[in-house]
Amino acid sequence: MNGRYTCVCFALPKKLLQHLADCAEGEHRALLQSQVHHCAKLRGSRNATVKTLAARPATAARPPATKPLRRSVFTAGGQTFLPGKLLRDEDDPPTSDQLADECYDSIGVALQFFKTVFGRDSIDGRGMRVDASVHYGYGFANAMWTGEQMIVGDGDGHSVRDLAGSLGIIAHEFAHGISQHLVKGGLGVVQVPGAPPTLKGEAGALNESFSDVMASMVKQWHAGHDVHAADWLLGEDILAPRVGKAIRSLKDPGNTKLTWKFDDQIKDYRRFKPTQEAHTASGIANHAFYQAATQLGGHSWETLGAVWYKGFDKLRARATFLDAAHATVGVAASLHGQGSATHKAVKAGWKRVNVLT
Ligand SMILES: [Zn+2]
Repeated sequence: MNGRYTCVCFALPKKLLQHLADCAEGEHRALLQSQVHHCAKLRGSRNATVKTLAARPATAARPPATKPLRRSVFTAGGQTFLPGKLLRDEDDPPTSDQLADECYDSIGVALQFFKTVFGRDSIDGRGMRVDASVHYGYGFANAMWTGEQMIVGDGDGHSVRDLAGSLGIIAHEFAHGISQHLVKGGLGVVQVPGAPPTLKGEAGALNESFSDVMASMVKQWHAGHDVHAADWLLGEDILAPRVGKAIRSLKDPGNTKLTWKFDDQIKDYRRFKPTQEAHTASGIANHAFYQAATQLGGHSWETLGAVWYKGFDKLRARATFLDAAHATVGVAASLHGQGSATHKAVKAGWKRVNVLT
């Protein structure tokens, strides 16, 4: 960990968790209701997290150059101390724990994607070992990046299934780790003395969007889908049908028929308000990417992916949507030329969401 801040980036926004709790009954309702406020507890435990991670011996000393991938999956054993007991290290055979193996495999896909497509060596770009913990607490219906590792919840088994089996969710959290290392101070991470760090404003929404966009590309790359075959959804594989179909859509942010009943994502910058939650305003940049990708056609990761990745690498901690538009348009021009199809598509994407006029 770089020590500058601790991220607390959840896959499911608080509003969705509240919806899940409202849809549930009996003990499941109580369980999910308790998790609506669980975020604060996690943030409170981050010092203990740092300590236990730092104390773990052996694999930390492994030379990075000798192994192309470095993953460790732990079990928190139903507790909330991190990372917990090691279940599977790199090159270990599959365990008898399905969630641990699913998590291990999905992290492997994310690592391979960034290495193959962008030449990035792990989350920090320097081959760091990626740690994840499953069986965190009881029926934890979320996933998060803590600033140091992933927590991948088992789900409550009624409204939310285990998140380890969702490549999109794992890739989303993985990308939170990457943006932490790309943008000094964290993209949109606001530190208030005595309070937990949160994602705020336009930069916070850009942080969430970066994770959704990268997760979409990881899914498409893994499936071999072009922009037309792709579903452009996130979390389409974790919700029970009675509570929703997916948690977000890049194709049509805020379309509740594609996602869930109270999805309030926006796709028009004119509707942005600084008080909006990061998962709400992230729809603006998500949709700009979708528009650019579908205008270009083909595989999203082949041309546009690098433009987005390199563009976001230029952003500062308090970047605006306009900064992101200028950065990605600038990268498209320098890589492919002024007036190229890529340059035009990126500009058109940001125009469709009214960030550029
Ligand atoms: Zn997130």
